[in-house]
Amino acid sequence: MYQYRRRLTREVVFGTLSLGGYQPIRVESMTNTHTLDTAATVAQCRRLYEAGCEIIRLTVPAEKDAENLRNIREQLRRDKIETPLVADIHFSARAALKAVEFVENIRINPGNYANSQKFSNNDYSDEEYQKEIEHVRLEFAPLVDKAREYGVSMRIGTNHGSLSDRIVSRYGNSPEGMVEAAIEFARICEEMGYHDILFSMKSSNVRVMIQAYRLLVQQADAELRYAYPLHLGVTEAGDGDEGRVKSAMGIGALLEDGLGDTIRVSLTEDPVNEVPVGFAIVKKYNDFHLVKGDRGHGALKHVVESRNRLSSHALPSVTPFNPFCYQRRVASQISLAGFAVGGDSVPRVETEVHASLADSDAVFAEAVQRLAPGKPEDTIRSEVVSVHVNSESDLDCLDDLLGKLGEAGRSVVASTSDLVLFSRLLDKVSKVRFDIVEGERFEHEMLQLFDNERLASVEFCFLHKETGNSIPAEILLHLAEKLRKQGVQRLLFSVLSDNVVFVYRRLVQAFNSKSIDYPLIVRFSSDAADRLESVIDSSVQEGTLFCDGIGDMVALHTTLAVDDEVKLAFNILQGARIRMSKTEFISCPGCGRTYFELEKAVAAIKQRTSHLKGLKIGIMGCIVNGPGEMADADFGYVGAGKNRISLYVGRECVAENIAEEEAVDQLVALIKEREKWVDPVDAI
Ligand code: SF4
Repeated sequence: MYQYRRRLTREVVFGTLSLGGYQPIRVESMTNTHTLDTAATVAQCRRLYEAGCEIIRLTVPAEKDAENLRNIREQLRRDKIETPLVADIHFSARAALKAVEFVENIRINPGNYANSQKFSNNDYSDEEYQKEIEHVRLEFAPLVDKAREYGVSMRIGTNHGSLSDRIVSRYGNSPEGMVEAAIEFARICEEMGYHDILFSMKSSNVRVMIQAYRLLVQQADAELRYAYPLHLGVTEAGDGDEGRVKSAMGIGALLEDGLGDTIRVSLTEDPVNEVPVGFAIVKKYNDFHLVKGDRGHGALKHVVESRNRLSSHALPSVTPFNPFCYQRRVASQISLAGFAVGGDSVPRVETEVHASLADSDAVFAEAVQRLAPGKPEDTIRSEVVSVHVNSESDLDCLDDLLGKLGEAGRSVVASTSDLVLFSRLLDKVSKVRFDIVEGERFEHEMLQLFDNERLASVEFCFLHKETGNSIPAEILLHLAEKLRKQGVQRLLFSVLSDNVVFVYRRLVQAFNSKSIDYPLIVRFSSDAADRLESVIDSSVQEGTLFCDGIGDMVALHTTLAVDDEVKLAFNILQGARIRMSKTEFISCPGCGRTYFELEKAVAAIKQRTSHLKGLKIGIMGCIVNGPGEMADADFGYVGAGKNRISLYVGRECVAENIAEEEAVDQLVALIKEREKWVDPVDAI
C-alpha cells in the first residue's frame, strides 16, 4: 500500500514467451477482423507484430473459426512471426476444444462457458446450484485435459457484464460474484493438476474492476495452491482520450499495487493503437525492475512454487482507504472561489497558468482561456487557476491581472514559498498555496500569520523530492494538528511528488489516525513533452487516488495544451465516476463478432449525445457483454446480426434488429421518449 512491490506469481508459458514470475509485464492486443477472413486477420496480426505487440488474441465464435486458426497460424509462422496467439472463447466448448490445437493460450469466460446465461433473475436452490457446478465440471474437464496435452495455458477471464445467472443469483452483479466465478474454474484446474492458468476480472466501471482484482488476489491466493498471474484490462473503455484515461487509471491503479503480469488496453479504434498505450502504461514498472536489478528482463526463471501470499500484502491496522469497497474519505467542507470544496461536493478542478505574471497580456489571455468566464456554469473549464508569485513585482502584476479579470478574478489563486509574499497574498486571493521546501527549516512563526478572518484559504503543499514517502505525511500532520488547535478552518493540504499514490496514502493514513479531516488537493505535475505520457501518468497517479475515494480537488500541471489539460482533469474525475461532466460512453473495441461499423456508430452517437451530462450509453459490438453491461448503462446500442442493431433501456431490449442506418436516429428518439434528452448548449 505504501511502496511499489510486485506480487510474485507462478510463471505461465505462452509458447516461446512467459509471463508472471520475474518476467516483464506483457502487452496484448486483439484483432477486430473476422477470424474466417484469413487475409485480413493475418494482415492485422502482422501490423500488431510490427507495432511491438507481444500477445495477439483472436475471437473464435464457432468451430469453423477455430479451424481457420490453423491457416492464420501457418501464414504467420511462415513469415517468422512467432507472436503467441490466444483464442477468445465465449459459449462454445466445441470451438474451444478445436482452437486449443492452434494457439498458445486459450481464454474462456466463466460466465458463459457451460453456464446458463439468459440474464434471468431466477433464484437457484442449493441443489440446482450444485447441479450446475457439476455440469460445468463435466463440460470444462475435456478442455483442461486437451490444453495440458498441447502445452497450452489458459486465461480464466471474468467480465462484470457477463456473469452467469447462477453466480448473479447468489452474489449479485458484484466483484464478489466475479471472483467466485473465476475461482470455481480454477478449483477444477487444480483438482486436475493443471496449473498453467491466469486470471482477469474486467469491467467497464474502473472502480469495480480495481476492487474485483484486489478481491481475487486476496481470495485466490488464500485458497488456491499457487499465486497465478493476472491479465489486466478495463473493458469497453471507449476511444480517444477517454478510453486511454480509463484504461490507464484501472490498469495503473493495480500496477501501483504490484498486481498485473500482462495487460490489454481496449480501445474502440484500430487495435494497433492499443499497443503504444499499453507500453506507455507498463514502462515505469518494467523499468523499475531493471533499475532495481532484482528481476531479470526477459529471464526465464524457474516456476515459483512457494506461496507468495498475504504475508507480503497484509494490511496495516489503520488504512487510508478500503481497497475492496469504494468509500470517499470524509473531509470537512470549505468555500473556495464560490465553490464548495470537500464534504460531499464534487471534486473541483485547478490548473496552473504557465505564463509569467510579468507578461501581463499572456497571463491574462491564458487565465481567460482556462476559466472561460461568461460560459454556462457546467462548462468544461478550470474552476480555479493558479499563478506563481516569486517577487514583490509579481504582486503588482497579480493586482493588474485581478483588475482585468473583474468578477472572474475570484477564481485566481496563488502559490509561493516565500513567507513575506505569503503574508501579503492572504488578503488578495481566495487561496494561497504555501510550498514547503524539503530540507528547509520550517517557519513556525508563520502559524500566527493567518486566521479565519483573512480572505484566503490556505493550502500547504509539501514539495517532496528526496526523502522517504512518509516524510510529507509527518510534516503536514504536525502542521495540521497545530492549526486545528488554533481553530483554523479554511485549510487544505497537498503534496507534489513523483510518488503521488504512495505519499498521499501515507498522508491520509496519518490524518485518519488523528481524525484530521481537512480537504486534500491531489496534485500532479509533469514536464513530459510527450502527450501520451502526460495523459497516462496523470491518469494513473491521480485516478488511482480518486478511485479509492481520496481527494477533494484535482490539480494538474502538464505540458498539454490548455484545453487538453482541462479536459484531462475532468476525464480523470469522470473515469473514477466521482464527477460526471458529460455523457459516459461504454463502447467495446469490437472483434470478429461485430457485424456493423462500430467506430462509425460510436462517432455518430457521440456527435449527437455527448452533451447529455451523466447519461451512460453502452455501444457493444455483440451480445456477449451487451445486456450484462447494460446493467451499468442507461441506454444500449448492441449489434444483433449483420448490419442490425438492438436498442436497450437498462437491461431491457426495447427494439430488436433495427437496420443500422436508422439505429442512431432511433436511439436519440428513445432517449427523448424516456425524457432524458436536453438540447445542447455551447461548450468549449
Ligand atoms: S462485446 Fe465487442 S469486443 Fe466483446 S465479444 Fe462482442 S463484439 Fe467482441
